[in-house]
Amino acid sequence: MTLPSHGRRAAASPLHARLRTRLTRLTRSAGGARRAGNRRSLLAAVGMTFAAGLFAATSIPALALTATAPADHPVASVYEPVVEDTILAAAQTVDSHAAIETVPDESYVVELAPPPITSQVAGLGAVSLVKSTAVVWPVVDPSRTSSGFGPREAPCAGCSTNHDGIDFTPGNGTPVMSIADGVVVLATENGGGLGVNVEVQHNIDGQLITSSYAHMQYGSIAVAVGQQVSAGQQLGLVGTTGQSTGPHLHLEMFGADGVRFDGMAWLKSRLG
Ligand SMILES: [Zn+2]
Repeated sequence: MTLPSHGRRAAASPLHARLRTRLTRLTRSAGGARRAGNRRSLLAAVGMTFAAGLFAATSIPALALTATAPADHPVASVYEPVVEDTILAAAQTVDSHAAIETVPDESYVVELAPPPITSQVAGLGAVSLVKSTAVVWPVVDPSRTSSGFGPREAPCAGCSTNHDGIDFTPGNGTPVMSIADGVVVLATENGGGLGVNVEVQHNIDGQLITSSYAHMQYGSIAVAVGQQVSAGQQLGLVGTTGQSTGPHLHLEMFGADGVRFDGMAWLKSRLG
């Protein structure tokens, strides 16, 4: 009895010999066919060459794998780069989807316009207020004050016991400035108890805010009703007109409801 491998090689040898013989003959006849113009012989030769090639392709790698590849890890080096490529492609797909989903959401938020804020200005009607975020103190030395916002002992016979504003005392003739961009809605020398008085309305972060500057000097008003002013622009000079016991700026602040609030706390929260 012979070994199976020896038997297979032995059995394969006569087949190889026969194919070699046929191929040699066909190649010779194909050479003759080219010269004679016989296409059928040429096609037969190609067909047989293909069949011989198949035989070699299926038998040779099988023999090579069993002879040389390690039994425990035969194809690791072939598959490793493929796994790496798959991970990179998946990461790129996730990134591009995230970008596509967030960009439209952000653009819609930007396109949402806040409701317009207008001031009713005498002789002009509705005036649109430009949104502003910049805020400044109304005088250069805001630390000098004489009276804060809220309940107090009346400083004079006709003075209020609930103070509607803040009294700054930087000195007589000190410039008074608008606390933010806005439009002048009042500029009068006959403001009653408030004396020489200017009011400016602002759109601060979408909120209608009014600032009122009182007791300024006669002849010092530097703006007119309907005029657009900038943060820090001079409105007048510190004086003691109206119901006042000495030179100071009385600053009042209120929202759309007209209710006065603590302007000092409001300014400090924005200016420190
Ligand atoms: Zn006051």
